[in-house]
Amino acid sequence: MATILDGRAVSRIYRERIKEEVERFKRLGYREPSLAVVLVGNDPASQVYVNNKQKACKKVGIRSLFYHLPEDTPEERLLSLVGELNENPEVDGILVQLPLPKQINPQKVIETIDPNKDVDGFHPENMGKLFSNLEGGFVPCTPLGIKLLLDHYGIDLKGKDVTVVGAGYIVGKPLSVLMLNLNATVTVCHIYTKDLKEHTRRADVLVSATGVPHLIKEDMVKEGAVVVDVGISKKDGKIVGDVDFERVKEKASYITPVPGGVGPMTITALLLNTLKAYKKHLGLEGAASAV
Ligand code: NAD
Repeated sequence: MATILDGRAVSRIYRERIKEEVERFKRLGYREPSLAVVLVGNDPASQVYVNNKQKACKKVGIRSLFYHLPEDTPEERLLSLVGELNENPEVDGILVQLPLPKQINPQKVIETIDPNKDVDGFHPENMGKLFSNLEGGFVPCTPLGIKLLLDHYGIDLKGKDVTVVGAGYIVGKPLSVLMLNLNATVTVCHIYTKDLKEHTRRADVLVSATGVPHLIKEDMVKEGAVVVDVGISKKDGKIVGDVDFERVKEKASYITPVPGGVGPMTITALLLNTLKAYKKHLGLEGAASAV
């Protein structure tokens, strides 16, 4: 029976440290960190995510500024709002919730965000820094959250066979590069992979980020593997992940639940990235870090 990688518990520890650090800066006379959150339209899942992010900010003392634009917002209007937020000295981080309505090109929006305020880490400059294994950029929140979760449980990736299922721009692809930077041997699978099971069965650490409910079955997992489930989907009215948790937990050594695993860690990583942007912005980088 696997040990649960408890994203809620680990998040509480990180968030307490972030809160203490923010309070310390405020005691020293600095303003609080701030995150601008932009939501376009009324997608229910996006509204829940944005709400959770704002609540988490508030709890650690990060001010969140919320911009809710209508579904039919023209691309130009969103780009000009991002431009204003880039120029606003009171704004440390900018997050534009994805997905965006179809009249808006998400890549154009991502490229308009000031890389120094890009706390989601999706700007090509930050992706490039990750690819080049350079310090100082922002690592996308879900990959960073997974790394922090594995670190907390003392799971070292050096020399491990890691299989990442899913090669999306916001999770699978940057996560594969991050794990390669940590000296893992990384296999990346996707919808066109010929024999998925052949790759998943070899993995010491198996991460799935596809959004296909229960794609990963017990017979696809090596005995004693570490299993990280990023997927979030709805099945029979319940939130489920990519992994058939009930069966796979009997075979894995460690496993993340859905919900309560990667989700909270993603938000924790967003808070850390916002704190990092704030410190960069105010020249406080030398100060002690929450990580
Ligand atoms: P995406 O659509 O960008 O990428 C999905 C990837 O999965 C693609 O590379 C695709 O080829 C692959 N894929 C799809 N079906 C497959 C199959 N049958 N076999 C193998 N590969 C397959 O999606 P995304 O934005 O990366 O999100 C993936 C999942 O992670 C979604 O469920 C999303 O909700 C979830 N997610 C969770 C968090 C979190 O905090 N827990 C954060 C971001 C995304």
